[in-house]
Amino acid sequence: MFLLAGLTACAVTKPIVTTRVVEPTVVETPVESVQSGQQLASAPVPAAPTTSNLVSSQGSRLQQADPNRVLTYQNGQPVIQGGGQFSQNQQDLTYLPADSSTVSQPVIQKASTTTSKKTPKKFSSWVLPSRKIVKTPKSLVDEGRNPCALTFDDGPHKTLDPQILSILDQHGIRATFFLIAKSVKRQPELTKEIAARGHEIAHHSWDHDDYKKKNGAGQAADLKRANDVFNNLGIYPTVFRPPYGSFNKKTVSLARQAGLDTFLWTNDPEDWRKRDAATIRSRVNARYTPGSVVLLHSIVPGTVKALPGIIEDLKAKGCQFVTSSEWIAAVSSN
Ligand SMILES: [Zn+2]
Repeated sequence: MFLLAGLTACAVTKPIVTTRVVEPTVVETPVESVQSGQQLASAPVPAAPTTSNLVSSQGSRLQQADPNRVLTYQNGQPVIQGGGQFSQNQQDLTYLPADSSTVSQPVIQKASTTTSKKTPKKFSSWVLPSRKIVKTPKSLVDEGRNPCALTFDDGPHKTLDPQILSILDQHGIRATFFLIAKSVKRQPELTKEIAARGHEIAHHSWDHDDYKKKNGAGQAADLKRANDVFNNLGIYPTVFRPPYGSFNKKTVSLARQAGLDTFLWTNDPEDWRKRDAATIRSRVNARYTPGSVVLLHSIVPGTVKALPGIIEDLKAKGCQFVTSSEWIAAVSSN
């Protein structure tokens, strides 16, 4: 829900019930190039939703406030997205307080009374455009499965990736590292170490270029140039994540020809935009749906700091941690 041009936050447009489905227009921005968004960090923090300050348009009072509220920004103004349960089965609220001290009776529209609005009926085809997804989040849960994939983009990072490996080991979790091949060339030993520790090495282009700005030949050349780097280390990725989440049909086709599934994410805490650990953790939590594919960046210190808490939260939600290729196998038909 972020547009590349101007990196404008537009996650919430009205103080109404919202869902947390990532849109195909989401683009990822490499941390090292992010310039905007920093000023948002100092914006005033509005009051959290509480049982005393939220009354629905139907007059029902909030019964239970979700402590894992999420702060986002709209036109430079802070917006709280909170979850909560109303006496009339309303849930998942969003509101725009006038300021931090005058939250009283925001208008709250009625949400689904059956399942959480945060649980999509199906996976967006955007997350895995190279295959047909045959499972829904609900069907996985009904089968007693909840494959969740932690994914770390933009490494290898000399100091932060070893810390991430250590945390993952402590929790007995395998993850996926979407590595930039040019950086792999500089850090071959670390790359091999990540693989040796049981994690999946995935393809994140040669140098983090925007594939939509390349023609077919350019995309194919980039895919091959990066693949050659991995292959020279005895690593053969089967999963590709286009930088910025920016791709077209040709990308999917060319990647497939190179033996790669194009794979995006379902849960983006925007750790590159708002880098403090508490925010990153709370966003992953709030944006969780069964079968989450969590987009993290191993070059953000706050992400590393948040990681133990993120794992703890996801475990509490029943996540069974898998690699990206395992996630793909779990939800797709071919
Ligand atoms: Zn990236």
